[in-house]
Amino acid sequence: MDRLVVLGAGESGIGTAILGKQKGYEVFVSDLGKIQTKYRNVLEHFGIDWEEEKHTEAAILNADLVMKSPGIPDTVPLVVKLRTKDVPVISEIEFAARYTDAKIIGITGSNGKTTTTMLTYHILKEYGLNVGMAGNIGDSFARMVAEHNYEYYVLEISSFQLDGIVNFRPEIAIITNITPDHLDRYNYRFENYVASKFRIAKNQHKEDHFIYDLDNETIVKGLSEHPIKSRLLPFSIQKTLEEGAYMKNNEIQIRTQNNLITMKTNTLALEGKHNLKNTMAATMAAKLVGIRKEAIRESIANFQGVPHRLEKVLKIHHVQYINDSKATNVNATYFALDSMSAPTVWIVGGVDKGNDYKALMPLVREKVKAIICLGMDNAKIKDAFGNVVDLMVETFAMEEAVKVAYKIAERGDAVLLSPACASFDLFKNYEDRGDQFKEAIKNL
Ligand code: ADP
Repeated sequence: MDRLVVLGAGESGIGTAILGKQKGYEVFVSDLGKIQTKYRNVLEHFGIDWEEEKHTEAAILNADLVMKSPGIPDTVPLVVKLRTKDVPVISEIEFAARYTDAKIIGITGSNGKTTTTMLTYHILKEYGLNVGMAGNIGDSFARMVAEHNYEYYVLEISSFQLDGIVNFRPEIAIITNITPDHLDRYNYRFENYVASKFRIAKNQHKEDHFIYDLDNETIVKGLSEHPIKSRLLPFSIQKTLEEGAYMKNNEIQIRTQNNLITMKTNTLALEGKHNLKNTMAATMAAKLVGIRKEAIRESIANFQGVPHRLEKVLKIHHVQYINDSKATNVNATYFALDSMSAPTVWIVGGVDKGNDYKALMPLVREKVKAIICLGMDNAKIKDAFGNVVDLMVETFAMEEAVKVAYKIAERGDAVLLSPACASFDLFKNYEDRGDQFKEAIKNL
């Protein structure tokens, strides 16, 4: 019996353990931290061996195959040791894909993964396809493969998952965009991170499809360095294209295989330029799996949106409150500010991942009437924008930030939480930050 060792007992680790057990492996799960009770219960239920708060080398180095969770860097000594012993170390999507014949739509990118994944899934599901959604969203891919028999998967895929693939092949691959993020895991070399994203297409065949943002210079440059075998389907909001998706007369037009779909932008449920792009990507994928135009249009129009991404919360005294807590980097916030049409009270700050705020300056000048800093250390934001806006207030808790925003905002304004930073200085995670924001608004 082959021995499968799973490093890390989070969602992807537990899913892999379940699938591995089902496929006849002798499975051992090892986590350097404490394993959450709900996951421990699952392991017990399936009779899977595990350890926590340690990695026992003797029980790991004898593996035939290792699945490393995306949170564990390649540089940790244990992983280095495994590699020198030639033990294959793969990611969960690689492992799970070996046990399904389903058609895979794989979606990666620096921003827009979740939105594009959920939108694509929504269109396929409404059409009645037998489709599952997994990856960074909800249940892991591996667990889904163990427990369901889907014909299609829409997968949100991080670069860390892509680092651990060998044969993983999505019939449709999407890169939403590439901007600097997670550089700490890539030796602070942007090109390494870019290469990681392009791995999504490395096993594609020539009849597969690769959907990408033609307006993103990094991707266009990346295409010459990482040749793609599959058919290219670009999308752009700047250029008109012979094949792909583009804008014309306030319409999204999509041309694939001599077929044209048009959608008036005012019928789209999601707002903002970035969402035009996400919609283009999702629509092309849906078209490629054979969904009819009418059905696509209808699903795009009735999509409910995704919490914490430009989520409209409440209107109070004619002030719209918007929760974009998921904006944990400058690029995401750029699109949030860009989509604002009302004078904006902007709540920003948190853990800075090496942000360069220059790109935001013109938008802040044009749209932001006041800045509310919300973070343990707001020095960088004060430096960057101190001279750009008339009013800047420092706060250290969500309730306080929302109360200050309420005082400053006037009829017709908007209050936007789009932090451009990670959340773990004051919050558990971005969901907690967004939930506290919504709660504080309801308590106003
Ligand atoms: P991801 O899963 O890649 O983090 P999300 O869909 O959760 O992406 O969106 C993350 C943040 O980025 C949100 O603030 C959202 O408004 C913004 N965003 C969404 N799509 C795009 C895009 N195509 N380009 C830039 N920013 C985007």
